[in-house]
Amino acid sequence: HLKKHFPLKNQELFSREKPVLKAVDGISLSVNTGETLGLVGESGCGKSTAGRLMLKLLEPTEGEIYFKGQDITSVQGEQLRKLRQDMQIIFQDPYASLNPRKTIEKTIMEPMKIFNVPKSERQKKLDHLLDVVGLSPQHKERYPHEFSGGQRQRIGIARALALDPELVICDEPVSALDVSIQAQVINLMEELQDEFNLTYVFIAHDLSVVYHISDRVAVMYLGELVEIGDVHEVYNNPQHPYTQALLSAVPEANPDHERERILLTGDLPSPANPPTGCKFHTRCPIAQNICHAEAPRYKRVSENGQMAACHFAKEVVAQGT
Ligand code: SF4
Ligand code: MG
Repeated sequence: HLKKHFPLKNQELFSREKPVLKAVDGISLSVNTGETLGLVGESGCGKSTAGRLMLKLLEPTEGEIYFKGQDITSVQGEQLRKLRQDMQIIFQDPYASLNPRKTIEKTIMEPMKIFNVPKSERQKKLDHLLDVVGLSPQHKERYPHEFSGGQRQRIGIARALALDPELVICDEPVSALDVSIQAQVINLMEELQDEFNLTYVFIAHDLSVVYHISDRVAVMYLGELVEIGDVHEVYNNPQHPYTQALLSAVPEANPDHERERILLTGDLPSPANPPTGCKFHTRCPIAQNICHAEAPRYKRVSENGQMAACHFAKEVVAQGT
């Protein structure tokens, strides 16, 4: 039940409640070892904030975070530092996340230095990392500006893997890249997942990319989780009207099975002042009176545990429970 509310400055003089931006507003999910969980939604839906909360780069306003069974919600200091080795992040814009004054060697070595990896080991590890991400040893002495966008993301990936993490949060890692390069980087990330036994949370707004790489997918709207489940189930049989609308905009591989395009009306409401009841009701094509008044609960909508939060989603009762 994670929440992250950011306080807002412009407080109205007589308003009783302190104004807050509800970036993440009570999400519950789990990520299984070795899987890729895709986290999708429009920009501003809170997916990046959710990723940063999982890594403890941000403190939650409410809720708990567990890593390998351990409650890490209030871990600080040395304990948090240790945890950092196991959890890493790959950023959207590799250029902005690389120090322009540091060579590639220094960039990739830095985390190992901070965590006191012996010098001899560091060098070996660096060579191995460059090799697995598809860069050559001659690249070591060069600076970030000498590389293409795709190569820079390879450098970012190598750095994220330097300490052998278990969980990697990938925050729109290919969104800034040319479409032709995106596939190469995605394929590389899949290879590395096998080689390094990685668990990914893959944040993106591009649903085709998420479909390709994810085992499960979680859909966010205005700081809340509206649907989660096996990626094939959610994509073939979305139960939440928001997921249906997002997917209706994605071209289908099978031309015989055209989806009807659902256009969302209205703008995305502000997370500082979200609609009452179901937050999606201002844009939902099938909203009824109850949607304004009451927030929907999560329902199990498939045998495999697909969940959706909509008053009109059909509930499936699990067999044998
Ligand atoms: Fe639409 Fe109502 Fe379902 Fe929300 S609860 S998604 S407004 S039908
Ligand atoms: Mg983002």
